[in-house]
Amino acid sequence: MSKLDVVEPVKLSLDSKFKFRCHKGIKCFTRCCSNIDILLTPYDVVRLKKRLGMSSEEFIEKYTYMKNDEKSSHPYAMLKMNEDAERKCPFLTPEGCTVYTDRPANCRYYPIGQGTLKKQGKDGIEEDEFYFFVREPHCYGYHEKKQWTVASWREDQGVDEYDRVNREWKTIQIRKNLPGHPELSESKQIQFFMASYDTDRFRRFIFESNFLNVFDIDEETVEKLRTDDVELIQFGAKYIKYITMLEETLKVKDEVLKAREKKD
Ligand code: SF4
Ligand code: SF4
Repeated sequence: MSKLDVVEPVKLSLDSKFKFRCHKGIKCFTRCCSNIDILLTPYDVVRLKKRLGMSSEEFIEKYTYMKNDEKSSHPYAMLKMNEDAERKCPFLTPEGCTVYTDRPANCRYYPIGQGTLKKQGKDGIEEDEFYFFVREPHCYGYHEKKQWTVASWREDQGVDEYDRVNREWKTIQIRKNLPGHPELSESKQIQFFMASYDTDRFRRFIFESNFLNVFDIDEETVEKLRTDDVELIQFGAKYIKYITMLEETLKVKDEVLKAREKKD
């Protein structure tokens, strides 16, 4: 069965209702935490590395592998499953998820999936968010009586904060397949990955290279970037847009531009 086979072809809104309950006593408890591919968002890595007391480099090395999107060549961090026959999640125990309050956004959404449609509006490309059910045969949560709307499920699972922090980064994913978007070079893929997930390395890149001499970044932002990982990943999304030429999100200092002009 392919992943698409479990997606119910019904477009849901925030008001759509469904019945579902996931709890320790259910016979499928933890069945959904094996043999899956979980794409991590930048905020997932920030939360998990903090939870585990690791640096971003240690977390990435131990718990992720990199996958390049076939169409866009964008690099993503995927959660590395155990290398046993069941491909269990490394955070899974018989009692459940050991990182539950910091679990990735994809685990929070389940059994709801989220998609975005691009459409041409009168002021350019507009994005239309929608939801859908993922109904896997092993999941008995649908037989339970607790009723939700998509909105109340999102609130209960704490996805709003994840979506808010990841919003700018997600807009890069939405626009990745737009016509004329070129394949990324290897060096851009490395920078893309660093700015998305490897916060400690990205911070060193900003503060220990020529970066702040080249780009015009206000003092308040610079101070936040020193200590705040959420600021850093949001700034990282701007940096990715700049290097992939999606948007002019960063400004090169006037004196640097003048020096370049003189050189030319
Ligand atoms: S992170 Fe937790 S909820 Fe997500 S797959 Fe792993 S064990 Fe399951
Ligand atoms: S399979 Fe469904 S009901 Fe069972 S533990 Fe996973 S999400 Fe919960």
